[in-house]
Amino acid sequence: MNIKRKLKLSGIFLGVLFLSLLIQSFIDNNGVQGVFNKTVRGVESAHYQIKAVFKDEEKLVDGSQRLTYKNTADKELNYLYLHIYPNAFMDKSKVPFEEEELDNVYYNGFNPGWIKINEVKLNNKRVDYKVMGDASTVLRISPTTAVKTGEVVEIYIGFKVQLPNVIGRMGYGDNTVNITNWYPIMAVFNEEGWHLDPYFPIGDPFYSEVASYEVTFEIPMDYVLATTGNITKKQEKKNRVIYSINAENVRDFALILSKDFQLASAEADGIAINAYTLKGQRSDLALQYGVDAMKIFNELFGVYPYQQLSVVASDFFLGGMEYPNLVMISEGLYTMKEEFPLEYVIAHEIAHQWWYGIVGNNEIKEPWLDEALTEYATLMYFEKKYGAHIKEQIFEKMIKAQYNNYINFEADRGEGILRSLREFDSSMEYSSIVYSKGAMFVEVLRREMGEADFIEALREYYQSFMFKNATTLDFYEICQKHSKKDLKAVFIEWLNISFE
Ligand SMILES: [Zn+2]
Repeated sequence: MNIKRKLKLSGIFLGVLFLSLLIQSFIDNNGVQGVFNKTVRGVESAHYQIKAVFKDEEKLVDGSQRLTYKNTADKELNYLYLHIYPNAFMDKSKVPFEEEELDNVYYNGFNPGWIKINEVKLNNKRVDYKVMGDASTVLRISPTTAVKTGEVVEIYIGFKVQLPNVIGRMGYGDNTVNITNWYPIMAVFNEEGWHLDPYFPIGDPFYSEVASYEVTFEIPMDYVLATTGNITKKQEKKNRVIYSINAENVRDFALILSKDFQLASAEADGIAINAYTLKGQRSDLALQYGVDAMKIFNELFGVYPYQQLSVVASDFFLGGMEYPNLVMISEGLYTMKEEFPLEYVIAHEIAHQWWYGIVGNNEIKEPWLDEALTEYATLMYFEKKYGAHIKEQIFEKMIKAQYNNYINFEADRGEGILRSLREFDSSMEYSSIVYSKGAMFVEVLRREMGEADFIEALREYYQSFMFKNATTLDFYEICQKHSKKDLKAVFIEWLNISFE
């Protein structure tokens, strides 16, 4: 995300860019058992069965989930941890926004969001649990006996989520209800231990493993629903509709509701592209950008392995946000005079399907890895679609300009690309370094490696880490494997990476 802020920052340059772009635009113009028995390429260690009801008056989601979790580590687990992100919205002093954003996002004044855990069972027996961590965003479950390597447990959680009136990732505005990061999701356990990072105000502070989902979601009939996964059944009950939704190999599950959604669909390489717009605003364009992005990234990096992708106009203050099979696009972009920002944000968020969604990474520890690749993939989209000169213009006048602006005017600036979210002081710093300088690094890498080897490396990176989580070192190794030159110096110079 963060694109809108960046567009604002580089306003002067964008003015020029819009003009030339406008002139030149359109030149070319299963069940649990199945999960563990079938061969999945990733490490799909969890299966979620979620039942939830959305209550419109109170903006509550009443839910329960049965989560089958397999301990795939070679260590026994004395505790099981899940993130319960809605609690990040409970206390005004801890909400995941920067101070200066608060008046804008809470446009009706502050109101809390939260998750209440009603009941926790492990293998059908009640167990002790504790809500803990920064802003109470972690749920710790205490099994009566440690969960052994290879053991499968069933965790049942009854919960209720209050959505806040806020135009962030989770919450609702005047047009849409954004139900994201809403259910208890397993924390990642790996050789570094449990990853229990809080919901930081900067970046996209999430880290998860892929899982499969069977969700039933009940909403009032006057709402239209956009979702991760595939809707397999729609059942009407009085004034309500119950949707059955399945998703496989996804690392999160998000839904957006609106009474004003109009849906336009098309196909790209056999994948359904769904554009949900508010009252049909710029529906044709949003759909076209979605189709173009899907085709371009399929060709560049490898084929998108799901059946659908939804491009969803949302009440969201920051440009866009990526979830598996679903991208939130700020509704304000659909009413701007210029079409470029809408296209840029849609292309960027769709590129995240490859870098974040399918190939995952720890977005707290190494946020550059998906963000810089995604920003660069966005440039490649413009290059493929409009030609190298347009890509060059965006690169010079937006990407490099923002970085130079930051370098010239920001005192006490940090310059390291490879840093954890904790080490960034502001979104301005984050955006200039992770997005812009990050994309500048990928450009250098592309030149060093040469076009063919660079593309081959990205393709292998995609295939090798599909449905898994990659690290900077994994990315380096694949680039090096495909490069005739020694890339160590470039990686050290730009990322300050250590090869010890
Ligand atoms: Zn992004």
